[in-house]
Amino acid sequence: MKIDHIGIAVKNMEQSNALFQSLLGSAPYKQELVETEKVLTSFFAVGESKVELLEATDPESPIAKYIEKKGEGVHHIAFEVEDILAEMERLQAEGFQLLQAAPKRGADNKWVAFLHPKSANGVLVELCQQIKD
Ligand code: ZN
Repeated sequence: MKIDHIGIAVKNMEQSNALFQSLLGSAPYKQELVETEKVLTSFFAVGESKVELLEATDPESPIAKYIEKKGEGVHHIAFEVEDILAEMERLQAEGFQLLQAAPKRGADNKWVAFLHPKSANGVLVELCQQIKD
């Protein structure tokens, strides 16, 4: 595994894009709407990893609910894996609680699956695997 990205929940994408652009010294390389999750995402390259900003596009979005409860901040850590199905099976056998039974299509052309924060010291863990065309 390697760290693919760190997801950060933000209230205002325009302001946060400007903030992270000055923090990291480079502009986001892409923005992408994930309809199923009702989020707008923005990606910054940081060496081999990325920062993913997440803004809710709807009050029912998981990101809107997260910000309501906890405020802005680090939302999840994503680990890239070679075989997401095998990793899901392995982690389930290790006693981790998965938030879904099958991988979903996420941003950045990836299959994604999440582990419940309760089973990972309060950290929402995303597994992701590049979708090969
Ligand atoms: Zn993510």
